[in-house]
Amino acid sequence: MPRPDTPGLVDTFGRVATDLRVSLTDRCNLRCTYCMPAEGLDWMPGDQVLTDDELLRLMRIAVERLGVTDIRLTGGEPMLRPGLENLVARICALEPRPRLSMTTNGIGLAKRAKDLAAAGLARINVSLDTVDAETFAAITRRDRLSHVIAGLAAARDAGMSPVKINAVLMRGVNEADAVALLKFCLAEGYHLRFIEQMPLDAQHGWSRRDMITAAEILAMLEQEFRLSPFPAKRGGAPAERWLVDGGPGDVGIIASVTRPFCGACERTRLTADGAVRSCLFSNDETDLRALVRAGARDEEVADAWRATMWGKLAGHEINEAGFAQPIRPMSAIGG
Ligand code: SAM
Repeated sequence: MPRPDTPGLVDTFGRVATDLRVSLTDRCNLRCTYCMPAEGLDWMPGDQVLTDDELLRLMRIAVERLGVTDIRLTGGEPMLRPGLENLVARICALEPRPRLSMTTNGIGLAKRAKDLAAAGLARINVSLDTVDAETFAAITRRDRLSHVIAGLAAARDAGMSPVKINAVLMRGVNEADAVALLKFCLAEGYHLRFIEQMPLDAQHGWSRRDMITAAEILAMLEQEFRLSPFPAKRGGAPAERWLVDGGPGDVGIIASVTRPFCGACERTRLTADGAVRSCLFSNDETDLRALVRAGARDEEVADAWRATMWGKLAGHEINEAGFAQPIRPMSAIGG
């Protein structure tokens, strides 16, 4: 099928990507057991990581030429990127201005939330898999729960809204924390999203048996809360949502494995070293950094990006026989 001559990031299944996930670094200051080994990974060499100017140029091309309306900064841990506040301010100055958000582990956020908000960051997702300090230390291999809790409060106090929490549950590790997490979020005014664990860890240790499914999460929550379908339409949002005890509090589940939502996917991804990917699970990607460093014009870069997205597969294929985990782990793609 020939690619239509349209500016947006369309694919052969009629989806249009408007939501860009940008990884600012593959480095992280936590060592979550389900993401990477205790010793960390071989990080990308500095000269391979896009500079701020290169990143900004690609984001400008995305919003000016490719119809991207939403940008989420992630990693690795995006707050490890030097000069993040300045980068946020520059992204917010793009025209048309994208809706900007960030996914972070929250370490250091207590000190930085105010400046990040002043730079233009209005929305934030903080990853937190438990509110129990011991379990937190066992999962992340760092004793930092209080830092994350303080970071969340600082984000709320700085006016960021919504403040969302992402939680991954694992069998025999933190599954019993689902109810406590939701109680904490309801009390603090945060929006909780459970994410089914996906086969994206660097150690290739994922097993379907250990993943806690959306159905199990719902069953656990329903023992304690009354859940009713969320009134607003889901659209391309990854989370399916429920009102808790009649609202206004809510809870969401991102059931990437057991209830895939690939048919409504609106995402395109840029790695910290400048590769564009159509899916977390892509086995191929396009090196935009090479084009940028070779002096390509904006429209050439835009067209390479469009061509990558045109080749997006129908789905991630986790549930297909012969599924192969992508070579890059989650931390090097941008979660
Ligand atoms: N460091 C930031 C953070 O902690 O939010 C951003 C990157 S992290 C990879 C983004 C999200 O991916 C986190 O919420 C994390 O829990 C989630 N994650 C990591 N590995 C995962 C996996 N195998 N399956 C599902 N979610 C995963």
